[in-house]
Amino acid sequence: MDQPVTPSRPRPRLVERHTDPHAYPEGVAFLDGQFVPMSQAKVSVLDYGFLHSDATYDTVHVWNGRFFRPDLHIERFFGGLKLLRMSIPFDREAVAGILHDCVALSGHRSAYVEMLCTRGASPTFSRDPRDAVNRFMAFAVPFGSVANAEQMERGLHVAISNRVRIPPASVDPAIKNYHWLDLVRGLYDAYDRGAETALILDFDGNVAEGPGFNVFAVKDGALTTPAVGVLPGITRRTVFDLSAETGLPARAAALSVPALKAADEVFITSTAGGIMPVTRIDGAPVAGGTVGPITARLKALYWERHDDPAWSTAVRYP
Ligand code: PLP
Repeated sequence: MDQPVTPSRPRPRLVERHTDPHAYPEGVAFLDGQFVPMSQAKVSVLDYGFLHSDATYDTVHVWNGRFFRPDLHIERFFGGLKLLRMSIPFDREAVAGILHDCVALSGHRSAYVEMLCTRGASPTFSRDPRDAVNRFMAFAVPFGSVANAEQMERGLHVAISNRVRIPPASVDPAIKNYHWLDLVRGLYDAYDRGAETALILDFDGNVAEGPGFNVFAVKDGALTTPAVGVLPGITRRTVFDLSAETGLPARAAALSVPALKAADEVFITSTAGGIMPVTRIDGAPVAGGTVGPITARLKALYWERHDDPAWSTAVRYP
């Protein structure tokens, strides 16, 4: 049997038994101090992460064998842990090592890599969250995108649902969380209306975000993304960084539904897909209905940076 959780970075035990990079096509997970094939990564139904959605997580991606801005994701994850008063027996460096080893063991060159912590289960099934034993897990699975190749090329078709995103006074959106019922119901609204994905609203009726992504509108060469009630996405931040470098004005501010529909260009941002164009909203084309030049330029720059050692870190595959 493998060893239980240790406070330092665990030894990647799978590597001793398997060196074939195609041995784990479904990915590799780390839990309870062991690296296991994804199919063996299971949680207890008594874990409050499952019963109460009492959990936080973060997702980083690996593209062409390199992690993209992993430090920013790990920092956001530790911020969530602190706000939820969770603790894990690993520091930032150890978490980075675990994520690395999940990817290296999986053999995948492009991967979706998640770190998460649940409140855990209480040995007595006590309702006091302080009695639960927090549980850290991580996994690397093949890369997945919000937009498929065709949608990336011609732009997504989005519907605006009137569902309201959980307000920040209820759940601080800076704590990346699994409270997705508003987003999932918005997604079904969008499907019912023949669209491919959804945007939902903030408490004031402005545009907030969608299932797993932030949104930007481009008008007269300037970018606007919603300021409040949204996850401060790392891809969103990368758009700000790239805009500053290239002299594009960008701001976080209220974005009304009419302003979004009147934009010259619209795109969404996520670790799951990067910068993805939107060319139809509620059945009507955005401007000319084709992918705009600013979206295309930012998208190209975004992917270029994935090879830049200042923005990315190489995976050392066995
Ligand atoms: N908004 C929500 C609700 C999300 O879940 C995500 C990512 O999963 C995002 C926005 C985009 O954030 P990031 O760019 O860090 O992936």
